[in-house]
Amino acid sequence: MAEAFAAVEIIAAKRDRHELSDAQIDWVVDAYTRGVVADEQMSALLMAILLNGMKAREISRWTDAMINSGERMSWSALKVPTVDKHSTGGVGDKITLPLAPLVAACGAAVPQLSGRGLGHTGGTLDKLEAIPGWRASLSNAEMLNVLQDVGAVICAAGAGLAPADKKLYALRDVTATVEAIPLIASSIMSKKIAEGTSALILDVKTGSGAFMSDPKRAEELARTMVSLGTRAGVKTRALVTAMDVPLGLTAGNALEVRESVEVLSGGGPADVVELTILLAREMLDAAGVKGAKDPAHALQDGSAMDKWRAMISAQGGNPDAPLPVAREREIVKAEKSGTISSMDALKVGVSAWRLGAGRERQGEKVQAGAGIEIHGKPGEKIEAGAPLFTLHTDEAERFTRAKEALQGAVHISESGEVSPRLPLVVARIDSHDLT
Ligand code: URA
Repeated sequence: MAEAFAAVEIIAAKRDRHELSDAQIDWVVDAYTRGVVADEQMSALLMAILLNGMKAREISRWTDAMINSGERMSWSALKVPTVDKHSTGGVGDKITLPLAPLVAACGAAVPQLSGRGLGHTGGTLDKLEAIPGWRASLSNAEMLNVLQDVGAVICAAGAGLAPADKKLYALRDVTATVEAIPLIASSIMSKKIAEGTSALILDVKTGSGAFMSDPKRAEELARTMVSLGTRAGVKTRALVTAMDVPLGLTAGNALEVRESVEVLSGGGPADVVELTILLAREMLDAAGVKGAKDPAHALQDGSAMDKWRAMISAQGGNPDAPLPVAREREIVKAEKSGTISSMDALKVGVSAWRLGAGRERQGEKVQAGAGIEIHGKPGEKIEAGAPLFTLHTDEAERFTRAKEALQGAVHISESGEVSPRLPLVVARIDSHDLT
């Protein structure tokens, strides 16, 4: 069959800052998925998109073309509304773990397709795999069963969901084209729309530990994604939230599961609890659940914990099994007494990654027990010689580079001064805020 376009003409059009037509976009995404457009041609087009941008119409069409490359899931068999949450990722961002069972305990169904970590940010599936027996891969039928029985499921996206994105994301990763807003927005939203959720809350992180460190760019990404979701009929809202300081007191897979269980037991660090409750309220409101239980109560009365246990068991995990513990530990102590004035999320994330909590290449195994415990956060007082961090790894030779990453991560002020921090919620974008 003759092809409708030549890839080189489409590359030249974007290079010369022209808008691509709907037909050009449909063809190039489909032809790349079929293997007709070569990687080197798509690399050039992606770089032209990164440099010259895309209009809203082009981004929307590109997203539709990625959705149409695969299957669309449907949850019409469920009796309760569906709602999902997506975070762009950060250091210590374990919020999905307590959030999904919490929202299920309050009356909505949560079909959550999650990913793995790459680089210094952790991935939800890597965290849950620290639980003995837990399985990330489910068939669509198994996913529906868990949703019907429990109300929340967290699993990996199957091969049939937005296959164009799988190819494009791998190519972007090796061609320095991940950072383009049209490409990030279409990548995330194609998967979320194809997943079939009726409502979606986006948690767009900003600050040093986030992938979009500049709050203005994070807000632009949030607006682009809210607009894509709304056009596709998904009730979409975004919160731009702080990732200048790590979330909670742990970064690393089993360590973050432990902290999530503390939150589900009614305890846990204040920032993790606050963000979990805030996102749960947004999710229930966007889903339109009438008379929903207050998420703050569901954390205290054991109902969110019951859902967590059922969700883990339904995927083969043992919620009572001891979590893996790393073989080696080392304590990093405060060099002087004073008030912790700042803590850089990126440096803590890189250090946890170097300890073995994350991977350098796709497909590598992560260490379940590796990571960092944080013993003091900005605003808290600390004595010289007191523990600031405990580093965990199975391989003691990793400590040197992990400690190098922590150089300058924490400042202690003798005068009690604390550096300015981002507010927990930097911006909130609803569909009617779009211009
Ligand atoms: N996550 C995704 O799924 N896609 C991106 O492009 C970036 C983050």
